[in-house]
Order: sequence, then C-alpha cells, then structure tokens
Amino acid sequence: RTTEETGPVVAVLERICEELAPRREGQVSDFIPELAGADPNAFGLAAVSAHGRCYSAGDDEAAFTVQSVSKPFVYAMALEERGLDDVHAHVGAEPSGEPFNAISLDEQGRPENPMINAGAIVTTSLIRGEESRSRFERIRAVLSSFAGRHLSMDEDSYRSEAGTGHRNRALGYLSMAGGVLEGSVEEAVLDYFRQCALNVTVVDLAVMAATLASGGVNPLTGERVISRRTARHTLSVMTSCGMYDRAGEWALRVGIPAKSGVSGGILAAAPGSFGVGVFSPPLDHAGNSVRGVAALEQLSENYDLHMLRIP
Ligand code: GLN
Repeated sequence: RTTEETGPVVAVLERICEELAPRREGQVSDFIPELAGADPNAFGLAAVSAHGRCYSAGDDEAAFTVQSVSKPFVYAMALEERGLDDVHAHVGAEPSGEPFNAISLDEQGRPENPMINAGAIVTTSLIRGEESRSRFERIRAVLSSFAGRHLSMDEDSYRSEAGTGHRNRALGYLSMAGGVLEGSVEEAVLDYFRQCALNVTVVDLAVMAATLASGGVNPLTGERVISRRTARHTLSVMTSCGMYDRAGEWALRVGIPAKSGVSGGILAAAPGSFGVGVFSPPLDHAGNSVRGVAALEQLSENYDLHMLRIP
C-alpha cells in the first residue's frame, strides 16, 4: 500500500488537519474504560480514490479500535449470507433518532436499524460460524478483505468491554425476547465486542470506504468483497442511520453515506469517487467525532461530494 506524499489532494487534507487541530470541543469517550486513555490531540485523515490512490495527512499511522464503524460491514456480510428480506425480518431499516445505545425496538420486536448497538448485535447473531472457522474469525476475515490487510484485535479493549458491556447484553436479551436474535446472546455479544475491538488506521477506514464506494471491489487488491447490490443496500442504511441521532443534520451538511464510532473514527463513502477515513477521539453529544464531522463537511464542500449533486 503506497500513500502519496505530495500533490493537490494531500495539500487539501493537510490544510484541513492544520485548520481543525486547534479545536478543543468534545469529550474523549470513557464509555468503554479502555477508551478513556486516548490522546485527544490525535487527528488523522485519509482518502482513497475509486481507482485505488491513497492520500493521507496527520496521524495516519495511529491505530485505534474500529468500534461501531464495524457495523455496516457485518450488516453487508449478513445480507450476502441471508438476503435482504431475511435480514430485515430480524432488524428494521428506520433511523431511530436516538443514541447508539438506545433501548429501541419497533412494534415487531426488531431493533430499529443495524447501525445502532441493538441492531448490530442482532446482525452479528445472524452470521454463522463454520467448522474450520469461528464466527468472529469469519467476521475478521471479511473486514480484513475490505481493508486489504489482516486486521489485528486489541485484547485489552475487548476485555474492557466484555467486563463492562452490560447494557449491550441487555439489548441482546431484549432482542432475543422479541424473537429476532439467533443463538446465544452471550456469544453474539462477545463476538460483537471482538469485532468492535479490531484495530484500524484512517488509511484502513478509507480503503474500507472506497471498497463500498466502488460497489464492493477493493480498489487496492482488486478483490470483490461483496456484490454491487449489497454495497448499495449498505450505503443506503448508512445514509439514513449511520450518524445516530444526527443523520438529518449530516445529510444536510455533508451528504455522504457514513458511519461513526465511539473511539473517534468516521468512515465516509462517496459512491464512485472517494472513501474517506478520519480519526479524532473527542466526541460531540451524539457520539460523533467533532473534528471528524468538521473535516467531512469541508471535504464534501471542497470536492462536491454531496450525494444529491445537482448537475
Ligand atoms: N463497542 C461500542 C459499544 O457497543 C461501540 C459503540 C460505538 O462505537 N458507538 O458500545
């Protein structure tokens, strides 16, 4: 993987990093104890074009746990394995307008959508293990194909969440009571914690996003990871539900299908043009990275990436 060192795109990314670095709003999450030690000044930005060119600026080598940014990829995996109707018999496709860890089930007993915790735990439960490979190893393999390299897991973060994530367990049990979670709640929740603890960099996020943006083919490795159809379904759900209770504001100001995570990562996929990854730990009240949101507003404006581009 070679990242361009100079050129106009790198200059734009560097300018955005410099301009936003002094911003001090937001709080580093202590939602998972292990996250509380993150450096509030860490800030990285990367973009990968649909043709596979990589550009980055700032802390582009800093590793952080993927957290909720894993959700669209496991959702995509469930779609590939079970089909749209079967997956959505278990989880809805409506924005919840509520925080990511909301206790939110619709009148059919399904979590509102697969981008909030309750829905993501259900989607993880829909993935099966194989004789030769556990469910988590299958999930890791798919996320690694999206990133184009093997992703390691942060054991400390996993253990930290496994020891404290009782609200997520409760969401799992509620979904089981609604008849939509398959198999064991505890196993589904632990695999969900493992998927959240996979380590990534902003360049990984940008490659993963570029794979969605180019319809399921990783532009660096050439591997088809998911079908075009699944890529579109996944981008659709990211559009309506990817930014939690800020989905509307996001559509207005950025307009790029995206997913954020509690460690401070945001992944955004502009179909046919760019995959973008941002990392900066301080979060706003909705749980989205403050500098990340601001960086994407600027990139969207700068490159005219809003999905409702009026010709
Ligand atoms: N692992 C975190 C959780 O389940 C992920 C949440 C997030 O990134 N918003 O709470």
